[in-house]
Amino acid sequence: MAAFKTLDDLGDLTGKVALVRVDLNLPMKDGSATDVTRVEAAKPTIIELCDKGAKVLLLAHFGRPGGQRSSMLSTSMVQGDVEKVLGKEIMFIPEVAGPVAQQAIDILRPGDIGLMENVRFWPGEEANDPGFAASIAENGDIFVNDAFSAAHRAHATTEGLAHVLPAYAGRAMEKELTALEVALGAPNPPVAAVVGGAKVSSKLAVLENLVGKVQHLVIGGGMANTFLAARGVDVGKSLCEHDLTETANKIMDQADQAGCTVHLPYDVVVAKEFAPNPPSLRTCNVHEVAADEMILDIGPQAVEALGDVLKTCRTLVWNGPLGAFEIPPFDEATVALARTVAALTQEGSLISVAGGGDTVAALAHAGVMGEITYVSTAGGAFLEWMEGKELPGVAALRA
Ligand code: ADP
Ligand code: MG
Repeated sequence: MAAFKTLDDLGDLTGKVALVRVDLNLPMKDGSATDVTRVEAAKPTIIELCDKGAKVLLLAHFGRPGGQRSSMLSTSMVQGDVEKVLGKEIMFIPEVAGPVAQQAIDILRPGDIGLMENVRFWPGEEANDPGFAASIAENGDIFVNDAFSAAHRAHATTEGLAHVLPAYAGRAMEKELTALEVALGAPNPPVAAVVGGAKVSSKLAVLENLVGKVQHLVIGGGMANTFLAARGVDVGKSLCEHDLTETANKIMDQADQAGCTVHLPYDVVVAKEFAPNPPSLRTCNVHEVAADEMILDIGPQAVEALGDVLKTCRTLVWNGPLGAFEIPPFDEATVALARTVAALTQEGSLISVAGGGDTVAALAHAGVMGEITYVSTAGGAFLEWMEGKELPGVAALRA
C-alpha cells in the first residue's frame, strides 16, 4: 500500500484554510437527522484541524440534487445536527467557490468552522471538472479527505481536489484504510470471508475477488441458496437465482484452484411463509427442503461448524447477514455468528472487519458493535473495496 499523508504530517495551521471533504449525507426525518454517526466519525478530524489553528471548511454532498440548487437539499439542513455533535457553532456558506465564499472565509477566525453548500448543486462536482475543483481550491491551502464512504466516486471534492492542493487523509479515512489493509491488503492468514445477503448477482465481483485472497469462503444468506441449487440441492420456494447456477459453479471451481475452501450450510431454517415465528417454522438438512418451503436462515449445525472454522483463522472479513435477520427467528444464525466473532476478537485470536448497510444493522442488533475490530459504515465504497477495486478517492491521496 503506497503511503498517504495524514494529519500527523501537518504542523501549525494558523491562518491556513483547510478544505475538508466529509460525509454529511445524514438520514433525515422531519427536518433533523435520525442518525449522526457520520458526523461523529468526522469530528476528530475537524476538531484536530481547528486545534491546529486552521479555518476549517466542510465540503459535503447531501442527496441527489443533480447539478442544480434545491432548497430541500441544502447542507444548511444538517447545520444544527453538525453543531450539536461538534459542540460548536459553525457558519453556513451558501457557495463552494467565488467571491461570496471568499468573503465568508475572511470573516472566520483561526479554529472556526464553515459549512459550505451541497457540492452536488454544481454539475462540475459529479463530472469531476478540473475547473470546478480549481475554483474551490482557490480559497484553500490544503485538502483533507475524511469521507471514505464517497471515495468510490471520482468527483471534484472526492478526487479532483487531491490533485490541486496538498492532500491528506483525515483520521476516519486513515482508520478505515488501515483496517481494510489489515483485513485484505496484507492480512494475517488463515483468512476467512463470510459473505451473505440476498443475492449473488449484487456480489459477484466480491466473490470472484475473495476466492483468490482468502483460505475460507463462507456463503450464507439468500445467496447460499443459489450455490446449493448449483450443487443439485432442491431449494423449494427459496429466494434463488437459478440463472446464476453456472456462475456459482464457476466461482466454486475458481476457489478450488486457488486453494480456498467454500463452506455452504448443511442445515437450514425453513418456513412456508415469510412472517415472524411462523407456525410452519422448522430446521432441516439442506436435502430435506420441501417444494413449498423457503430457506430463511442457515441452521445451528452450520453456525457451529462456522465457529470452528473461525477458531482456526486469524483474520475475518464479513459482509452480508446469514439470514433474513429483520424477522425473528431468522436472525439467529447472524446473531450467533456475531457473538462468536466478537468473542474471538476480544480473546485476541481474530482480527475482524465487517461492513455493509444491513451487516452493520445486524451487528448492532446483536449488540456487538464495540467488540469487532473494525466496522465499516461506508456501504458502496466498502463493497467496491471488497471487490478488489482501487477507489479513486483513495488512489488520489496516495499519488
Ligand atoms: P449488506 O447491506 O450488508 O451488504 P445485503 O443488502 O446484501 O447486505 O443483504 C441483506 C438482505 O439479505 C437482508 O434484507 C436479508 O433479509 C436478506 N436475506 C438474507 N438471507 C436471506 C434469505 N435466506 N432469504 C431471503 N432474504 C435473505
Ligand atoms: Mg443492503
